[in-house]
Amino acid sequence: MKRESAGLANTQCFRTEEYVLLEHGDRLGEVVVAYETYGKLNRDRSNAVLVCHALSGDAHAGGWHKGQEKPGWWDIVIGPGKALDTDRLFVICSNVLGGCKGTTGPSSIKPGTGKPYGLEFPIITIKDMVDVQRRLVDSLGIRQLFAVVGGSFGGMQVLQWTVSYPDMVRLAVPIATSARSSPQQIAFNEVGRRAITSDLDWNGGDYYGRNTPARGLSLARMIGHITYLSDESMHQKFGRRLQDKVEYGFDLSSSDFQVESYLRYHGDAFVKRFDANSYLYITKAIDYFDLTRKGTLSLAEAFRGVSARFLVISISSDWLYPSYQSEEIVGALIANDIDVRHCEIGSNWGHDAFLLESGQMNYAIGNFLTPASVGDVMVKDVVTISLGAGVEDAAGIMMKSGVTHLPVIAGDKALSGIVTAWDISKAVAMKYSRLEEIMTRNVVTARQEDPIERAAGDMNRHNISALPVVDESGKVVGMITSDGVSRLVGMCR
Ligand code: SAM
Repeated sequence: MKRESAGLANTQCFRTEEYVLLEHGDRLGEVVVAYETYGKLNRDRSNAVLVCHALSGDAHAGGWHKGQEKPGWWDIVIGPGKALDTDRLFVICSNVLGGCKGTTGPSSIKPGTGKPYGLEFPIITIKDMVDVQRRLVDSLGIRQLFAVVGGSFGGMQVLQWTVSYPDMVRLAVPIATSARSSPQQIAFNEVGRRAITSDLDWNGGDYYGRNTPARGLSLARMIGHITYLSDESMHQKFGRRLQDKVEYGFDLSSSDFQVESYLRYHGDAFVKRFDANSYLYITKAIDYFDLTRKGTLSLAEAFRGVSARFLVISISSDWLYPSYQSEEIVGALIANDIDVRHCEIGSNWGHDAFLLESGQMNYAIGNFLTPASVGDVMVKDVVTISLGAGVEDAAGIMMKSGVTHLPVIAGDKALSGIVTAWDISKAVAMKYSRLEEIMTRNVVTARQEDPIERAAGDMNRHNISALPVVDESGKVVGMITSDGVSRLVGMCR
């Protein structure tokens, strides 16, 4: 299957015409939203997918910016032939309210002052961020999103979308996320914030045009980064290997281990691309996220009225947003009779796996948005046998070609039966010599356009391991086997 880049990408700007009323009653004047799109919006505007980014993400989710070496942060799933197939879908990603990548946030100029907001920026919530995204979606003339997809903090936005605007979301894919921040998640966020606010250069949030709180922000990122990895992945990636030395330094001023220099490098790199105040505001919004509204609702009640179909994805080694938090979401959706599928990605990469596990992410999301069909996985070179042949001929063909199922073809090329290795044993035991005496005439078949789940279900129900695939005239055009589908179907439930 082709998997290509979404191509050259440009960040665009949308300005809200009116002020934005925030959840806590404050108002924000004109808000600027930075966003990118990939693919084409179809005529009835029904193919739009909104991608919601995680804490350190931005609007540049797919494709390439001219002259830059790295593609967008979720390029693994955005592009022709990928899960968010830009040959079919119109993908939108915007920088969140409170961010620092083009959307209004604490580092933006406060109207009428000529100075950045700093801590005069109001406290914002994930609901506010989603409300601003809704204005962007409205401005594009889109009444309903085909899907809203996102991981981590992006997954919280997905959940909020389904609750705030139930009629606007057809499919929802929250990944490695939670319906409310856990004490452990809040604790890590607080340590990160304290690292920033303890840096003297933070200066009460008023540092623009001066030294930025680089040490604090770098430290916050280092702490965050550890939570995105896993014990296994750190063993794999670094072990106890030393960085640029063969012996321990036995001093406190430099680093010895590869893992130390990796974290320092990424902490320092983060300072160049992120604003410390945005880090404070966004992590606070994550902490406040709680669909149960401080426990006044059960989670099942929180999802009442939601109408989207869900694919909830979790990651086996994610200890920051463990699978049980996804299972809670799934349970609450089932309690509301909402169509939901849960898929646990088997990965050692920890929380970050949703950005790294290209194969599994593409399969799980792609198959949910566009279910794989029999035609995608069937074998096209089918070995068959003619109706007039004998049992010995069938046994010979099976031995030679290594197949266990032989469709029996009549003169007009139409399927008239099937013989298997099991039928050959029966023929030997009963001393039959003609195919017609042993073949099964009521053949269970599949069509190319059938979802593979249906074919797998038919095989299960009839206790058979292969189905001939036929066209509308009954001609055999392929074969689908349980081996071919079980690997794919078994992943999600
Ligand atoms: N182990 C077998 C298999 O791999 O399909 C299933 C056992 S079942 C008792 C065997 C019978 O199923 C055979 O008589 C065979 O002709 C029949 N059979 C196999 N494939 C079939 C299909 N697609 N439709 C109908 N019957 C089928």
